[in-house]
Amino acid sequence: MQTVDVLVVGAGLAGLRTARLLARRELNVLVVDRRRSLSAGIRTTGIFVRRTLDDFDVPDHLLGPGVRDVLLYPPSRRAPIRLTSDRDEYRVADMAAVYEHARRAAESAGARVLLGVRYVGASMGSVRFAGAEPVTARFVVGADGARSRVARDLGLDVNRRFLVGAEIVHPIASGTTTPAFHCVLDPRVAPGYLGWVIDDGRHAHVGVAGYPNAMRTGIRNLLDAFAADAPGHVAPAGPVERRGGPIPVGGVLRRLACPAGLLVGDAAGAVSPLTAGGLDPCLRMSELAAAVTAGYLRTGDQRVLSRYDGGALRARFRGRLLLRRVFAGIRSPAVAEAAVTALRGRALAARILFGDGSFPEVDPRLADPAIDHPRR
Ligand SMILES: Cc1cc2nc3c(=O)[nH]c(=O)nc-3n(C[C@H](O)[C@H](O)[C@H](O)COP(=O)(O)OP(=O)(O)OC[C@H]3O[C@@H](n4cnc5c(N)ncnc54)[C@H](O)[C@@H]3O)c2cc1C
Repeated sequence: MQTVDVLVVGAGLAGLRTARLLARRELNVLVVDRRRSLSAGIRTTGIFVRRTLDDFDVPDHLLGPGVRDVLLYPPSRRAPIRLTSDRDEYRVADMAAVYEHARRAAESAGARVLLGVRYVGASMGSVRFAGAEPVTARFVVGADGARSRVARDLGLDVNRRFLVGAEIVHPIASGTTTPAFHCVLDPRVAPGYLGWVIDDGRHAHVGVAGYPNAMRTGIRNLLDAFAADAPGHVAPAGPVERRGGPIPVGGVLRRLACPAGLLVGDAAGAVSPLTAGGLDPCLRMSELAAAVTAGYLRTGDQRVLSRYDGGALRARFRGRLLLRRVFAGIRSPAVAEAAVTALRGRALAARILFGDGSFPEVDPRLADPAIDHPRR
């Protein structure tokens, strides 16, 4: 049986980034994903916020034009709050190309990436797949998304609170619109979250997300109803793609690591409970995950794993978890109308929409003794 240092389950952004960082540290890394192609089954809008683009090297040609205007609408759709930034706050990525780029970066660093291979289970270091022969892995990284099977098998914490999101994406005729991000607070179509239209002048993404148990007619019907007259939505100028999936919003899980493996990205609950943004968190968390994994495999010292502490990260989410509860409680159009009125003219709206530090800053040097004490 083939032996690897690290098996990464999931070739989303979290898995591919962690794999790249581990391979750079000269570990033998295998990534598997059940998807046959990284351009299939995309589950994200792909909005990158300014903070991510400042801190991470996402190549410019993979990103659409910058978006500076945000409009927040009440259920009546009347008199939206308009916020205009003097900088590009959002850019929507071509996610198929982003995944392909991340895969090439992982492979150039030395990781192997196998697609069409589903993780089935693990025991005593031996990992079984559908679509490939089993392997022996010293350590397993669960980057297998919101409903992580790896988390269950490792006996780590699992996500329990979810929103569900769905969207359509299509090209638009160039020069017909002004780039803007339209957000609609309307519990009839998006109970507990928002409906959105983001239009960067090239593509439009129109979506809704909310608590599944409050979406009685089903998310597809709600999305179609919303898209029919969503503010800022223009007619498709090409093929329409559908995307969707669960979004964990219970905050970072507490128990994220054990001697057999750890969790990263959605599998670890690393999504801003407030904005439901998970791209920035999964990139930031991958840095820490790779440092901890490498440090642990090099030293065998379990104290290194204790630095991957979901409890500590979670504590820094306290304010956002509280606001998530407030958001979840907005269940009638009248309350939503009042909430938008209350936000009008307040700095809080700009802080949420432009300034959400979606994931706490983590210093990976603290987690890897080799970086911590370079002279040892
Ligand atoms: C509709 C929607 C829109 C969103 N929009 C945004 C946005 O615009 N901006 C933002 O910041 N966040 C957004 N999010 C959240 C964000 O997309 C996620 O937090 C982020 O993509 C998580 O990345 P990940 O690598 O952890 O997980 P994923 O991208 O979900 O990757 C997990 C991978 O694991 C694979 N996998 C799962 N099980 C197995 C198995 N058993 N064997 C092998 N492979 C397996 C899957 O195929 C998948 O490729 C959105 C989410 C949704 C649902």
